[in-house]
Amino acid sequence: LEEVEAARAPFATHEWAARPLLAGQARPQPPEPVANPANPSDQPGTVATASKDDIETALAAATAWDAPRATRAEVLNRVADLYEENFGEIFALLAREAGKTQLDAVAELREAVDFLRYYAANAPERDPVGVFTCISPWNFPLAIFTGQISAALAAGNAVLSKPAEQTPLIAHFAVSLMHKAGVPTSALQLLPGAGDVGAALTSDARIGGVAFTGSTETALKIRSAMARHMAPGAPLIAETGGLNAMIVDSTALPEQAVQAIVESAFQSAGQRCSALRCLYVQEDIAESFTEMLTGAMDALCIGDPWHLSTDCGPVIDDEAHRGIFAHIQQARADGRLMHEIATPNTGTFIAPTLIRVNGIADMKREIFGPVLHLATFGSDELDEVIDAINATGYGLTFGLMTRIDDRVQHVTERVEAGNHYVNRNQIGAIVGSQPFGGEGLSGTGPKAGGPNYLARFSAHVAPA
Ligand code: ADP
Repeated sequence: LEEVEAARAPFATHEWAARPLLAGQARPQPPEPVANPANPSDQPGTVATASKDDIETALAAATAWDAPRATRAEVLNRVADLYEENFGEIFALLAREAGKTQLDAVAELREAVDFLRYYAANAPERDPVGVFTCISPWNFPLAIFTGQISAALAAGNAVLSKPAEQTPLIAHFAVSLMHKAGVPTSALQLLPGAGDVGAALTSDARIGGVAFTGSTETALKIRSAMARHMAPGAPLIAETGGLNAMIVDSTALPEQAVQAIVESAFQSAGQRCSALRCLYVQEDIAESFTEMLTGAMDALCIGDPWHLSTDCGPVIDDEAHRGIFAHIQQARADGRLMHEIATPNTGTFIAPTLIRVNGIADMKREIFGPVLHLATFGSDELDEVIDAINATGYGLTFGLMTRIDDRVQHVTERVEAGNHYVNRNQIGAIVGSQPFGGEGLSGTGPKAGGPNYLARFSAHVAPA
C-alpha cells in the first residue's frame, strides 16, 4: 500500500493535456477542461478534441502495421511492461478522471495488461482488414480501450482510436505509451472527441472495420452508418448493454451470496455492462436474506475514490447522475424503494440503492449505476423466472446461487447469456481462459479476450 501511495502521490494534483496524436500535423479544437466526477473543484487536465481537418489527416495517413508477427508481439508486450511500470500514474488517472476506486483500478490495469499479453501471444500471421476504427466507453477507459486497439494491432491493422469524451486523458497517456513502445504513429492515431468524431470515423469508405463498446442505441447508429458508407461485409464488433439477473434459491449460502451481490451490483458504482441489475430471491428466504443484504449495503463506504477506504465512487457525470436519480425518485414515489444509504453532497454520487420489482419485465432499460432491483419467486416458479430473463432480449451475464447440482445444469442450459456465473460474483472476464461477451441486444460476439475475437480483425475471416 505504501508503494501504491508513493507512486500515485506525484499525480495527486498533476494536470494532464490530451490532444490528437496523428501521423501528421494536428489542428485540434481549443482545449477544454476535463472533470473529476468525485470532486468538482479538481481539474485533472484539459482535452483538445479532433477537428474535421484532423480526421482527414488521420484517414489519409493511416497505414496498416506492416511488421512481422514477432515484432508486433514484442511491441505489444513492451506496451504491457510500460503500463505496469507506470501504475502510479495510471491509478491516479483512473481515480481522478474516471472515479475508479483503488480496487477497481488494480483490476482494470490487470485486465489491460492481460489483453496486451494475450493478443501478443496469439497474434496471427499478417492478413489485416486495413484501417480499423476503435470506439471505446468511459467505464473501462483503459481495459476496453486497450483490448480493442491491441487486438486490431496484433492482426496488423491500422487503428483510428476514438475514446469516450469523459476519459480522454487516460487514452492519451495509453497511446503515448504505445507509441513509445514502438507502435508506428501511422498505425495508431488518437482522435479525442464526442459522438460526432465517432460518427465521422464510422462513415468513410477508407475504413475497413469497427470495434465498438457502448450503448445498444449507438451500436445501431454505427451499423446503419457503416451500411451507407463502407464496403459490404465490413466487420462491426460490438459489445453493448445488458439487463443482468441473478437467481438465489433457498439452498444458497447467504453470506457468500450477499458478498457476491454487493460486488456485482455496487463495485465500479454499478457502471459495468456485466453488473447485476435484477436479483431474484426465493420467497421462503426473502425476508432474512434482504435484511442481510441491506446490512451489507449499510457497511459500504461511499466517497472519493482517491481514498483507499472507499468502496463505491461517483457515477461518471451530471447527465448520468440525473438519469439514475430520476429512476430512484420514481421508485420512491411508487413506494418501491426498499433501501438506500446516505451520499456525500458534492460530486456525482449515487448511494447503493435497492428497489422492489415484480420481475425483470418491470425494468424497461438498463440503469447504469449502483441500483439493484429485487424480485421474489416461489419454489414452483423457476421456469417462469428463466423465461422472463430471456424475454428481455439482452444476454450478457447471469448468476446463480444454489447448492442443487441438477439445478445448475437446468438453469444455465436455459438462460441465454454470454457469461454464466455459479456461486461467485458476476464480474467480467478472465482474458484467455474466460473471454467476455454477450448475445442478443448485448452484442455481436465474438467474446473479447478469446481466440475468435482476434480472428475478426483479420481479412479472411472478417465477414460474419
Ligand atoms: P455510453 O452510454 O456508455 O456513454 P455511448 O454509446 O453514448 O455509451 O458512447 C460510447 C462511445 O460511442 C463513446 O466513445 C461515444 O463518444 C461514442 N459515440 C456516441 N455516439 C456515436 C455515434 N453516433 N457514432 C459513433 N460513435 C459514437
